[in-house]
Amino acid sequence: MRSGDTAGTLINLSALPTLCGIEDRGDFIRVGALATHWDVETSPLLATRLAAFQAAWTTIGNVRIRMTGTVGGNLMAAERAYDGPVLLGVIGAKLIFLTDAGEISLPALSAHQDYPDRALLTAIDIPVSMTARLSFDRSLKPVVSVAVGLDGGVVSVGVGCAHTTPFFWLGRIDDMEDALSAALPDPIDNPMGGAAYRRRMVGVLSRRLVDRLRRGDAS
Ligand SMILES: Cc1cc2nc3c(=O)[nH]c(=O)nc-3n(C[C@H](O)[C@H](O)[C@H](O)COP(=O)(O)OP(=O)(O)OC[C@H]3O[C@@H](n4cnc5c(N)ncnc54)[C@H](O)[C@@H]3O)c2cc1C
Repeated sequence: MRSGDTAGTLINLSALPTLCGIEDRGDFIRVGALATHWDVETSPLLATRLAAFQAAWTTIGNVRIRMTGTVGGNLMAAERAYDGPVLLGVIGAKLIFLTDAGEISLPALSAHQDYPDRALLTAIDIPVSMTARLSFDRSLKPVVSVAVGLDGGVVSVGVGCAHTTPFFWLGRIDDMEDALSAALPDPIDNPMGGAAYRRRMVGVLSRRLVDRLRRGDAS
């Protein structure tokens, strides 16, 4: 609407309280798309079962944004500097959409262009694993942000801000340095951050985060 689009009917999503809950579903936690960042930050369930995810999510925005902004809005806004897609992508979350054709589930690492048309994001399912760990570095935003998930010898890296959509790499920890660098598309090159600098920082931050997780430091 800010861009001049018109709409005959507006639906206020906040009138759907059933989409706000954070529920334990056993091997995953279902976060309603209308849960606010604050709901995530203060959820006792997430503190118990997905503490690293909760800690990382708490770094989003400032307290005013976290009190009102929703998890679903963060994802659906499709802004390359937003942290939600990167964090949820590396931990293997799934996005649940309600569409004209029924319910559709997509990996959170899917590109925004692959989201279904005319769809309401209803929930995000986050797997719970005793062995999976997560660490996140947003200190160089908006030039680059990196999240790393580690489960056994398998590492998943999510890169935000550096491209028009988040980039993900999944592979064996011992291969990460070379394989990530080879797979990384050319980053954005602009006065805020050159492509070579962004590329180098993806390598530096991902290595640091993996080291941190291997040492057992919290995110
Ligand atoms: C000052 C400021 C600082 C911020 N800092 C950060 C930050 O550090 N990190 C970060 O990640 N984000 C940051 N944000 C972004 C913030 O997280 C999002 O603006 C917020 O989460 C959006 O939620 P909302 O409910 O207001 O969505 P809206 O802004 O209302 O919606 C965004 C878009 O998504 C659509 N939409 C919303 N919900 C759904 C749904 N369930 N299904 C389908 N479509 C939907 C809307 O139609 C709209 O097109 C910041 C924002 C501001 C203003």
